[in-house]
Order: sequence, then structure tokens, then C-alpha cells
Amino acid sequence: MIPNTFEFAAPATLEEALQLAGSGDGKLLAGGMSLIPLMKLRLASPETVIDLGRIPGLNGISESGGAITIGAMTTHHAVETSPLVRGKIPLLAETASQIGDVQVRNVGTIGGSVAHADPAADYPAALVALEAVIHLRSANSDRTVKASDFFLDAFTTAMEPGEIIVDVQIGAEKPSEGYKYEKVPHPASGFPVVGVAARIHQVSGKITLARIGVTGMASHAFRATNAEEILEGGGTVADACAVIGEGVDANSDLYASSEYRKHLARVHAARAVTAAISRAS
Ligand SMILES: Cc1cc2nc3c(=O)[nH]c(=O)nc-3n(C[C@H](O)[C@H](O)[C@H](O)COP(=O)(O)OP(=O)(O)OC[C@H]3O[C@@H](n4cnc5c(N)ncnc54)[C@H](O)[C@@H]3O)c2cc1C
Repeated sequence: MIPNTFEFAAPATLEEALQLAGSGDGKLLAGGMSLIPLMKLRLASPETVIDLGRIPGLNGISESGGAITIGAMTTHHAVETSPLVRGKIPLLAETASQIGDVQVRNVGTIGGSVAHADPAADYPAALVALEAVIHLRSANSDRTVKASDFFLDAFTTAMEPGEIIVDVQIGAEKPSEGYKYEKVPHPASGFPVVGVAARIHQVSGKITLARIGVTGMASHAFRATNAEEILEGGGTVADACAVIGEGVDANSDLYASSEYRKHLARVHAARAVTAAISRAS
């Protein structure tokens, strides 16, 4: 339970952090909710821990040109309680409110959660459903990656060595849109066994936009595009949600077999979509 020895760096600017991240065997430290346990178990033994906590500009939520930008060091609690997020991307606020417990939400950050890419993390379901983009910087690059292209496998993302997530950018939901995040929390950890984020927009009772993000079921979060197409084509909620997970290699563990996980995903997707439809005006 004692980490290997490591150097500690506390850069004061993003440029300094990018230089440190691009050289040597360093690990970025955000809230430490995932990294510190890994270091204590010696599953991670970085030479240098690079603390992002003193860098101005990585923490905060702002709006520009219809998009909301959430700095990587913004805590889950700040996302959950932000009037801007609640007003413009309520699906994300609802998702953040269900992460872990109050201690985890007060310290854990959106950048750390996204970078860690736990297959059962809550945010990724909402981020793929919201068509968010992840903004990455390195010492010599500046790029964005769609959330649906970012999560590649368990604990594996499209980040290149030396890159730092600086923020997450999300277009505002339509005011008349309905949304819902439905989660089956694991009784021991609180992480979702499955979690489903749904967005629905309707015109004259017809669904014109359906977005469904699923986490916990597979090695990484994904958009259930097959179900979205059925809903947008006028199909029923039951028919749409019945195809979720088709062709997907579902996780299996002592708590939930792959068949049970798929079943949970379909049942909870139906609940999430039904709730989103009833919230859509
Ligand atoms: C008891 C407990 C319960 C939890 N329950 C849940 C839950 O129900 N749902 C859920 O989704 N999560 C849960 N979590 C995880 C929690 O959300 C963490 O906050 C999150 O996974 C990691 O965020 P962090 O800010 O603590 O990152 P850290 O632990 O500091 O870092 C995690 C990883 O991301 C990298 N990293 C951090 N910031 C950046 C950045 N800006 N750019 C690039 N790489 C970066 C680090 O190098 C490290 O590899 C739980 C954690 C605990 C301890």
C-alpha cells in the first residue's frame, strides 16, 4: 500500500506541464482518485507525478458560440451544480450527480475520468450521447477528438504520449430536448454495472433526434446507433432498445454475466428513452 518513490512536479503553467508530460516517464495527477490507488497497489510506478492542480485555466466552465467548455480539472461536483451545465447540458449534470459519493465528486475531475477511461465510468455514456469533443494539447500539437472516437478499449484512449486533456467541449442541448441518465450501480463500488444516457428531440410527436450512450456493458462506452436509427425511423422504444448490444462483446464478471449485462442495458435504455421522451416538450 506504499507507492514506489517518485519525483513530484507542480508546474505553474500549461506550457511547463506540456514540456514535462512530453519528456520522461511522468504521470499527470488530477484528483488522484484513480491514480493514487494504482500507485499504492504499484500497478503504476511513474518516475514523476505531474500535478495539474496549480495551472490556471484548466478549471472552470464557460460558454462561447453555443458550446460549453469544461476545463479538464473541473470537479464532478462543479459539473453537477453549475447553473450553465444544468441549463444547457442537463444530461451531463444529471450524470455527474450519480458519480461515486460526495467525497469522490468533490475531488475527481472530468479530465481525469475521461483520461482514465474506466469501462464502467459514468461520464463517457453522456459524452458520446452529447457528441462531445475532447480537446488535447501536447508541446507541439493542438487537436480535438470526438468522444465516440476517443474511448478505444478498457483504460485505452486515442491520447498520444505527451498529450494533456485541456478541456471537454459540448454543444448545448436543444431547450425542448428530453434527456435521462439511467444507471445500475454496482452495490460495492457504485460504478455502473451498466449506465445509459439518452437524448430525445421530437417534432409533432415524431422523434427527430435520438442519441443513446452506453457504458459498463463493453470494454468502452459506445453509441447505440442501431437503436437510434430505429427510433428516428418511427420504431417503438421496445424494438429500438432490443437491438442494443447486438454484435458487441459484453463484459462478464462475478457480478454480471455478459448476457445479464446486455439485458440490463436494454431494460435501462428503454427506461432512459421513455423518460427522455416524457421530458421532451
Ligand atoms: C470510491 C470511488 C468511487 C468511484 N465511483 C465512481 C463512479 O461511480 N463512477 C465513475 O465514473 N467514477 C467513479 N470513480 C472514479 C472517479 O470518478 C475519479 O475521479 C476518476 O476516475 C479519475 O479522476 P481524477 O481526477 O481523480 O484523476 P486521477 O486519478 O488524478 O488520474 C486518472 C488518470 O488520468 C490521467 N489524467 C488526469 N488528468 C489528465 C488530463 N487532464 N489529461 C490527460 N491525462 C490525465 C492520470 O495521469 C491518470 O492516468 C470512483 C472513485 C473512487 C475512489
